[in-house]
Amino acid sequence: MTATLLHNAMIVCLGDGDAIYDAGYIVIENDRIADIGDMKTVPDAASFDTVIDCTDRLIMPGLVNAHTHTPMTLFRGLAEGVSLLVLEGWLTAIRSLEAVMTPDMVPAAVEVACAEMIRTGTTTFADQYFFMDEIIPVVEKSGMRAALAYGIVELGDPVARERELANLEGFLEAIGSLESDRMQGWVGPHAFFVDNSEAMMQAERRIAAKYDTGLHIHISTTGEEDALTQELYGTSAVTQMERMGMLDAPILAAHAITIPEADWPTLAAHDFTAVAAASACMRAGAEAAPVLGMHQAGINVAIGTDNVCNNNDYDLFLEMRTLAKLTSFREKRPGALKAREILAMATANGAKALGLDAEIGSLEVGKRADLILLDRTDIGWTPLPTNDPFTALVYSVNGHAITDSMVNGRWLLRERQWTTLDYASAVQRQREDVVRLLALRDAAQA
Ligand SMILES: [Zn+2]
Repeated sequence: MTATLLHNAMIVCLGDGDAIYDAGYIVIENDRIADIGDMKTVPDAASFDTVIDCTDRLIMPGLVNAHTHTPMTLFRGLAEGVSLLVLEGWLTAIRSLEAVMTPDMVPAAVEVACAEMIRTGTTTFADQYFFMDEIIPVVEKSGMRAALAYGIVELGDPVARERELANLEGFLEAIGSLESDRMQGWVGPHAFFVDNSEAMMQAERRIAAKYDTGLHIHISTTGEEDALTQELYGTSAVTQMERMGMLDAPILAAHAITIPEADWPTLAAHDFTAVAAASACMRAGAEAAPVLGMHQAGINVAIGTDNVCNNNDYDLFLEMRTLAKLTSFREKRPGALKAREILAMATANGAKALGLDAEIGSLEVGKRADLILLDRTDIGWTPLPTNDPFTALVYSVNGHAITDSMVNGRWLLRERQWTTLDYASAVQRQREDVVRLLALRDAAQA
């Protein structure tokens, strides 16, 4: 067993008791938190393998980014002025790139995404995309915790349906047989009704149940599903999903902007998480999601950045701030969501969405050692006596204050340096990949 003592830090636990230690310590044994407390009761440093002085540091749980598409860092800057929340915009700006993208372009893109998330405080993410054979090894190398959803766009094609379902099962088998328990396999229909048929949805539900996992989808970005289901079934998308048994599976639902209020109680009664992606929504010129209303109705709300074509970064601190401000703007009142509630959405609620609430999302004895350190001498914290930590974390500091990051007791970032990934090399490879990508796109369009 290896034991590490982190001491002299401000510790923000974000657990049920909401403990904050102005000067505290954490003991990590192997991959778990073994002890937390005030410096007045700190154990003898001589009994540890490693002792780290964390003066001027704040330690908190690592953040959970509940909606990403990591390979899409390759497309950053290539979908400007286009809404990716409507099918037409997505088909125009993204599908033309995806049609020519090759698997060898994926590893550098995922490494860039993971490096940016680690550097800005995310320790767990929920990804949905294609090319899982290329994504898994990079996530494995990164040391991050992840729920990886096999992306499916069927568009009513029965050949695509059979191929994708076979590949999906192969993916779930493969991820289930990995030695590491840091990665979960999920089913990733791009969007119910819009581009996955009823037959496909039923097959996806059965496979999710067989592998005891959930569905990571996009929903209600513009109301397209509701228009379709009203036309086909005379009812809302959520009611139709319930009739089809889709809500029996855990659902991670990105955006959730236009779900009718009448459907909120149904969603609150199921294992359903609405993932707020405020930056993507604002950049697309979409409506602001009714996050406060859904939260008050009892729906689990988490936070995601979405892809970096319509965000355009992976800094979840900036995303917390954007959601907090957008919600006040929408509700026309200050502090509509408290800073503490926003922090819960970026930690415990994301953990709950992934069935990991007993393992991560707060700093508590027995939980996994997934934590981040922030530099309190950096800009945005002062005055320390009055700028309370919840307010500072949501409104005045950002992910660049992160100095260190740990998952399962292993450092992924130390003193602002990546320990598992080579960002400079990934950036260089991605530079070459994007040149090839654009040449392929131009050739296809010629
Ligand atoms: Zn998305």
